[in-house]
Amino acid sequence: MIGKRIVVGASIGLALTIATGIELAICAFDTLAPFEGAVSLLYLAVILLVAPFGRRYVLAAGAVTAALATQSFVMGHLDGMAGSALLGYGVSLAAIAITTLLSLRDRFIRTTLGEQARILELTHDTVIIRDPDDVILYWNDGAQELYGWTREEAVGRVCSDLLMCEFPSAEVRSTLHADGQWSGEIIRTHRDGTRIVLASRWLARRDPTGRAIGVIESSADLTELRRADLERRVSEQRYRTMFDLAGFAAWESDWSTALRIAADGSPAHLPIDVWLAGRPDIVERAIAGAVVRDGNQAAVDLFETGTVEKLIGSNPCRANLPEARAGFARILAALTRGAHMAESETRIVTPSGRVADIVLRVTQLPEGERGSHVLVMAFDVTERNEARARIEQASAELAHAARVSMLGLLSASIAHEVNQPLTAIVNFAKSGQRWLGRADPDLGEVQRCFERITSNGTRAADVIGRVRSLARKEAPQVELLDVAELADDAMELIQREARGAGITLTQTIEGGLPRVCADRVQVQQVLVNLVMNSIQAMREPTGGERAIQIRATHQSDGMVQLAVRDSGPGFTDGGAHVFEPFFTTKVDGMGMGLSICRSIIEAQGGQISASNNGGEPGAQVIFTLPVVCGDRIPESEIKP
Ligand code: ADP
Repeated sequence: MIGKRIVVGASIGLALTIATGIELAICAFDTLAPFEGAVSLLYLAVILLVAPFGRRYVLAAGAVTAALATQSFVMGHLDGMAGSALLGYGVSLAAIAITTLLSLRDRFIRTTLGEQARILELTHDTVIIRDPDDVILYWNDGAQELYGWTREEAVGRVCSDLLMCEFPSAEVRSTLHADGQWSGEIIRTHRDGTRIVLASRWLARRDPTGRAIGVIESSADLTELRRADLERRVSEQRYRTMFDLAGFAAWESDWSTALRIAADGSPAHLPIDVWLAGRPDIVERAIAGAVVRDGNQAAVDLFETGTVEKLIGSNPCRANLPEARAGFARILAALTRGAHMAESETRIVTPSGRVADIVLRVTQLPEGERGSHVLVMAFDVTERNEARARIEQASAELAHAARVSMLGLLSASIAHEVNQPLTAIVNFAKSGQRWLGRADPDLGEVQRCFERITSNGTRAADVIGRVRSLARKEAPQVELLDVAELADDAMELIQREARGAGITLTQTIEGGLPRVCADRVQVQQVLVNLVMNSIQAMREPTGGERAIQIRATHQSDGMVQLAVRDSGPGFTDGGAHVFEPFFTTKVDGMGMGLSICRSIIEAQGGQISASNNGGEPGAQVIFTLPVVCGDRIPESEIKP
């Protein structure tokens, strides 16, 4: 770079020295020769000679030339001057001045054009100048880069041949002719054969007489843009297809009004879900404000609108059933609290009156204000729920059969349990008769006999009541139950059986236990079944202490834990397979008892496990029960 500058500087210096020499020679010639100033025209050639070196050199050459011309004129006319000589001198000076000015203007134009040419080189767009026959006259760096042809290769070639495109179509030609310009999209070919999409703008070139002398065009590469656009459209189409073909109903909706209605009325002292659960009117009003923006075919089918167009703008998802209001209340509460997604199972009535169980999942989309764009997905679980109901019915029947068979096993103890108070009743009745039959009846003793008859009768009725409730075939009824009462009731039924086998049956209930949410009969069935299993396992005397303990404690996760622990031989397999249906080690066993216990406990939201007592002999079965019914908030957490 520096070397290049030195070379350029040296050539300018040499040219200026030569110019100065020529000037001096011309001056001497002008002074000595008898051409009366005509020689001074040669000065003009010197000005033109230095013009390419710059403005300053032109001005200097003009000034020096004028000075030398003046000097020659003065020296040549020291002995007097004619009027014509003075005129010639004046003309020479004027010519020098005009030449200097024209050189300066030429210099300025050249500089401007040079800068414009550099701008054309700098631009990333392609700039091509073509003559009327489409022959390329100019080809900038952008064109070189985009089409792969160098300037040397492109200039002089026919543009449409080089870039394999039509030039120009009749339509383009007429637009160019009429408007002097045209812009649009064209497709050309790169040197390597790839097709390039361009946004092109063409200007008609005309000479001063208005004759067309070709086209100047500037084009920008749209290939990437078009490809990205195409990919986006393909991707959109793919997702649209997935959306439409999804086996579940999905629609986009505006829930901003719904969320506002839910949030606006919520009092500060109540959690919003608790408040909404008690305000079905608000939930119904909020959901009525949610309008569908777009939906898929499954949504059209679910809401029976016939077409997507009819679905759009409508509000088919009404909270017009208690289950629907509860489900929507949960979703509204979660979204109002800021959840990104909320899900709930609910029940809706379709326009034709079909009641559908649906799992609704509402997801906040990234666009717009909160709730303004939500994606609602509805999974129709009506059939699944019907199947589940059938299974539940079958397991309830199985559990009932198991209870009845368990009662059969307990029949001897139960008979004894009932027989005892009955015998006592008969004895106290006889005794009462005797007291009455005396000459001086002791009414106080008669009174005591009646009291004992009543208490024994109540005891017998209680036993029968328990047996009847276990034998009854009723749909499970979930309620909040006192754990101590549950354990007492089970103990009453099984105590005699244990005692008969020489086993001590005890219970330990932790103080302050919360009530559990369960079906009374089913939990009793589980407890009695577990104790019965322990009694059966300890039937063979082992010599050691034979004890069964029912223990109830409060777990750290809020659930209540019940354990039946014995001092028998323990599970032969460590308890790994005992919940599998038909697993039994007993000759007359069915292997269904523990399997039914597991179904019962899991259906109530608990868990059950079996293991041997670590280090000590015996087995232990532990199960848990929830303290909250369904989605209800625990009573303790509801603030007044
Ligand atoms: P079944 O009593 O008809 O065999 P269960 O499902 O009630 O069916 O019990 C399955 C098996 O689990 C029993 O056969 C027995 O081997 C084992 N089992 C249950 N409880 C105990 C226990 N307390 N101690 C030892 N083994 C037990």
